[in-house]
Amino acid sequence: MRKEPPGGEELAVAAPHCYCGRLARLQTSWTESNPLRRFFVCPKSERGENGCGFFVWVDIEMPRREIALMAWLLRTKREVEDQIVRARAREKKLWIALFISWAFVFMVWFGNVG
Ligand SMILES: [Zn+2]
Repeated sequence: MRKEPPGGEELAVAAPHCYCGRLARLQTSWTESNPLRRFFVCPKSERGENGCGFFVWVDIEMPRREIALMAWLLRTKREVEDQIVRARAREKKLWIALFISWAFVFMVWFGNVG
């Protein structure tokens, strides 16, 4: 059996044409009201711009309970990512502090020896 390429699942959805006759672009919503829900938009739509205004959901709306759960999971994911970023910054500071303290120890040591 052939292995599915990354995003193969998304490619399996036939793209409709938008009002300007282009192949609509598949995107995934990350909002808390529609987490992970896929939709088609006009390929000309960019941040703030709507293109021809074509918009259609691919996935059906999730039950409220699932939406709440997904929203909570996404929030938790963001919090954990924030914590990792903060922990890495703290780790970097600790390494710098360790380096400085060792440099100081060596300076004192060689200062006394020499
Ligand atoms: Zn369009």
